[in-house]
Amino acid sequence: MAVDTPAKIAVLGAGPIGLEAALYGRFLGYDVVVYERGQVGEHLRQWGHVTMFSPFGMNASPLALAALAAHDEDYVPPDSEALLTGAEFVAKFLAPLAHTDLLADSLRPEHDVLAVGREHYLKGDSPGCEERGDYDFRLLVRDPTGREFIDHADVVIDATGVWRQPNWLGCSGIPAPGERELRNQIEYHLPHVAGPQRASYAGQRTLVIGRGYSAATSVVALAMLARTSPGTSASWITRSAAPEGQIGPMIVLPKDRLAARAKLAQEANAVCADESSGVTYWPQTDVEALTYDAGRNKFLVELSGGQEGTFEFDRIVANVGYRPDDSLYAELQVHQCYASSGPMKLAAALRGTSGGDCLEQTTHGPQTLLNPEPNFYILGSKSYGRNPAFLLAIGLRQIVEVFSIIGDRASLDLYATALRPRP
Ligand SMILES: Cc1cc2nc3c(=O)[nH]c(=O)nc-3n(C[C@H](O)[C@H](O)[C@H](O)COP(=O)(O)OP(=O)(O)OC[C@H]3O[C@@H](n4cnc5c(N)ncnc54)[C@H](O)[C@@H]3O)c2cc1C
Repeated sequence: MAVDTPAKIAVLGAGPIGLEAALYGRFLGYDVVVYERGQVGEHLRQWGHVTMFSPFGMNASPLALAALAAHDEDYVPPDSEALLTGAEFVAKFLAPLAHTDLLADSLRPEHDVLAVGREHYLKGDSPGCEERGDYDFRLLVRDPTGREFIDHADVVIDATGVWRQPNWLGCSGIPAPGERELRNQIEYHLPHVAGPQRASYAGQRTLVIGRGYSAATSVVALAMLARTSPGTSASWITRSAAPEGQIGPMIVLPKDRLAARAKLAQEANAVCADESSGVTYWPQTDVEALTYDAGRNKFLVELSGGQEGTFEFDRIVANVGYRPDDSLYAELQVHQCYASSGPMKLAAALRGTSGGDCLEQTTHGPQTLLNPEPNFYILGSKSYGRNPAFLLAIGLRQIVEVFSIIGDRASLDLYATALRPRP
């Protein structure tokens, strides 16, 4: 549904995709407000010590680089081949971008969007009808003082990511008995074991759960810590079996074009195969139940499958993926996928391409970004729901596609026409 300027776009989340979407909207002349629960790049700051596996050139749009060059002639972007940490990506790119003329006035940090509804309509009113788009969205927002207020917008772009909603570690994806109570004692993200959290992991026995690159990152970091801190060990469990003929669980993609990603997968497998690494790998193993012995500061974890029995651990790191927060748009007509909890049209397109190398992905056309709710779009990592294959390069293409719908110009592509920054 075309929305002419002037019109107001509310972008939820100032992560890389929210910020780039806001910039694109501002270039086109829309009035844009960006509500961010924390600070710009809040989630990347939280995994700031982790090195990204895609080079900077894949992660930033030409429009953003042009805006930065126009704003500050002394700005020097990172090398397009540079592999930045999350913290460096924020410091060298996102934070300066947020200060550019087009974005600075649009940003509302420490503003939490609590809910989005449609003026005059409840969720069940006029199912799938375009008339809903005749009225504004209503956003319930909480400012840094705790005050709640209502804002209005013609278009809403939800780019709030998934990082804050980790999955449960229990067998079958539901909480293991005891997990709810121990939620705050379990690490569901990526601890900085070589930095501020070293003391919590050095000389300790850690259970790591999960099979993706995050779990591999945690395991490799713990193995490095074990080299210098005696008594440090980790047991790594995955639901799946290891690929045939291999001791570790990571699939090393043949001729992976992302060298850093291939190296991480190889290192994670190598520490599993090395008996002196401090890491023991237990495939096809699930967590049945958890308790905490407060007197001895130990988790007691009941495992089943490949490894059976009750084991003691000092720490638990659950890198079991994330899920989108759909409570934000519970009053809107969003058709969610029953498997990924992402928006249905995109999820259906992604289902046809699941597995393999996420680098081989493309976007699936503007139509896959449409929801039954007119002018409501979910972009960025949240658009993939529980599917972990999202890449920033995909999110940038989504921005082009979504504005071709909003502006009703199929050929509109500011990235193709953006002035290249000086070499
Ligand atoms: C460890 C790690 C490494 C990764 N490495 C790469 C890589 O190398 N290359 C790559 O392409 N991708 C990588 N990814 C995947 C992905 O690109 C990132 O997760 C990226 O941060 C997604 O950007 P986003 O803008 O969609 O969401 P996010 O970065 O998650 O941003 C969402 C923002 O919304 C805010 N927010 C949330 N809820 C609200 C609310 N209710 N109101 C207001 N604001 C809200 C958050 O505070 C946050 O700032 C990596 C992911 C992880 C976890």
